[in-house]
Amino acid sequence: MRHGRMFRPIPEEDRRPISRSTVRRVVATFRPYRGKVWLVALAIVATSALGVVNPILIKLVFDRALFGNPAGSCDGAACPNMHNLYVFAGLMIAIPIVTSIIGVGQTYLANLVGLRVMQDLRNALYAHLQAMPLRFFTTTRTGEIQSRLANDVGGVQTVVTDTMSSILSNVVVIASTLVAMALLSWQLTVLSLSMLPVFLWLTAKVGRARREIASSTQKTLADLTAVTEETLSVSGILLSKTFGRKRFEEDRFRRENERLTGLQIRQTMIGRSFFAVVGTFFSITPALVYLVAGWVLRDDPASAITAGTLVSFTTLQSRLFFPIGSMLQVSTEVQSSMALFDRIFEYLDLPPEIRDAPDAVALRPAEVRGEVAFDHVWFRYEEPRDRATPISPTDAPAGPPREWTLEDVSFRIEPGQLAALVGPSGAGKTTITYLIPRLYDVQRGAITIDGVDVRKIRLESLGDLIGVVTQETYLFHTTVRRNLLYGKPDATQEELEAAARAANIHDRILELPDGYDTVVGERGYKLSGGEKQRLAIARVILKDPRILILDEATSNLDTTSERLVQAALEPLMEGRTTIAIAHRLSTILRADVIFVVDRGRIVEQGTHAELLERGGLYARLYEQQFRGGLVQAECEDGVILASGEVVRTAEGSPDLG
Ligand code: ATP
Repeated sequence: MRHGRMFRPIPEEDRRPISRSTVRRVVATFRPYRGKVWLVALAIVATSALGVVNPILIKLVFDRALFGNPAGSCDGAACPNMHNLYVFAGLMIAIPIVTSIIGVGQTYLANLVGLRVMQDLRNALYAHLQAMPLRFFTTTRTGEIQSRLANDVGGVQTVVTDTMSSILSNVVVIASTLVAMALLSWQLTVLSLSMLPVFLWLTAKVGRARREIASSTQKTLADLTAVTEETLSVSGILLSKTFGRKRFEEDRFRRENERLTGLQIRQTMIGRSFFAVVGTFFSITPALVYLVAGWVLRDDPASAITAGTLVSFTTLQSRLFFPIGSMLQVSTEVQSSMALFDRIFEYLDLPPEIRDAPDAVALRPAEVRGEVAFDHVWFRYEEPRDRATPISPTDAPAGPPREWTLEDVSFRIEPGQLAALVGPSGAGKTTITYLIPRLYDVQRGAITIDGVDVRKIRLESLGDLIGVVTQETYLFHTTVRRNLLYGKPDATQEELEAAARAANIHDRILELPDGYDTVVGERGYKLSGGEKQRLAIARVILKDPRILILDEATSNLDTTSERLVQAALEPLMEGRTTIAIAHRLSTILRADVIFVVDRGRIVEQGTHAELLERGGLYARLYEQQFRGGLVQAECEDGVILASGEVVRTAEGSPDLG
């Protein structure tokens, strides 16, 4: 029994009825360990029941050994029966030792089961979350996911080691103690029970107060954590420093911190009052027992109440208070435990949405030519809320608001071609690239690779075929080497270096303090934007995918960095189908085909020259962005390159990618 947890607060939303199906599933999670669970239960029953033996032995020591010697071998005076004394004293020593040994085994087994169940749930949850579609992560806060994986699953262990164990042990202790007390003296038992309501009332009152304050403490603690997380992250501290808000943040933190301390002091004091209630009852009740015993003996000197009975009874009685106090909190405890499981099951029950079709095939990268085609694709991120039935594509209104993010998109990219997607911001370019690796599934139409519907390609195989370089480079907080190996886990040092050279980053890596073994900071903050991009490019070069999706960064790289990234990209695009959301003029000019996207539709397609000639949206965008003096195109060995800081667009203004 752990008294400290008796008043663990549970959030308001967790105080809901426990559903049968949750209980069934909780039981099912423990099924693989049922043998051990039974052993734990048996051990709890044994240790709790053995607890009453010693108080009973006290009676025997008093009445049968130390005093009232039945053998009567001494003359008149109290004369101990040494044989009985040895037996009883021996038992009084042996039983606590046995109980302790069983207790250690029980703790070990209970923890083992709890931790194993926790491990299983964490594995299941992690695997499930890995299979969740991007949609889930774009709509769920990261903190929420982490909290379920860490706190909720972590809480499961206490369910076994604390809640379940304490319920069973309390029940056995209360029952066995009451039976022993009644056997010793029914009159005294009645007295004991008559005092219980006062005890129960006081404990319940203190319990409620402590629970309320504990829940406020938890809220304040969460606020404090949120403030810390927000302001002590790299981006948070950057913001605070650049806005000169140090003092403001400190004051905010200090206020929350002070509130927390105040609450914690009150919490400690209320906790103390619980122990004061129990302690007072502890001390008072023997006096009352002696009083009642005196009255019983006065009226009936032949009653069965002996000195041994009294000592034994008061000892037994003191065993009741904590278990009873603890049982008052049982429903709260069970509710909060079940709420933990509910939250875990809720995630486990989320449908993965995007998964392998039963007849999905694995394509061998070496045999894939890399033709990518969109065939009348209709897509939207969310189903419209105000319509009971999804609207049909033909109902799609022409003007705003847009019901569909992509409307009837069809195009074909031949193997090895470089296709550039250009169009105003929000046109749907990124969305088009998301659909190819099945980050989302289309609602209508189909996307094919070499004529095979992507939904019929095994997800793992699809992942192998496609490489993505995004604007935001994500690096793990580990060494350069490990970050690169993510692209090809079995790559040799030579391969790593070749890829790094191709991506123009090898020399820079060698300049780092530990070369390839330098740990790059969280999200690669130790590297410049251009260096991170080149590292990410090297990672994809290592992966060597058949199809490359490239979201060119609009970020403001300096001329040298820009050229280095550009030069790194060239070998990457070589010999594979590339779909680029193009922001650089050089990419657009190199493209075999340009698709102009506007409001979710492909409105024009062709080469740069063809599209300029046509004088449509592309020509307008080109005029605005590239001819407006923002970028100078220069001629170098017959290839026109973009120089300097390329396309920078104001929010919402049209851009070329
Ligand atoms: P940009 O050049 O600004 O990146 P884009 O052409 O790549 O724009 P997309 O990112 O494909 O445009 O977005 C197309 C539309 O879909 C936009 O209106 C956008 O608001 C919407 N959209 C994008 N992602 C989501 C999402 N996860 N959920 C709902 N709507 C989204």
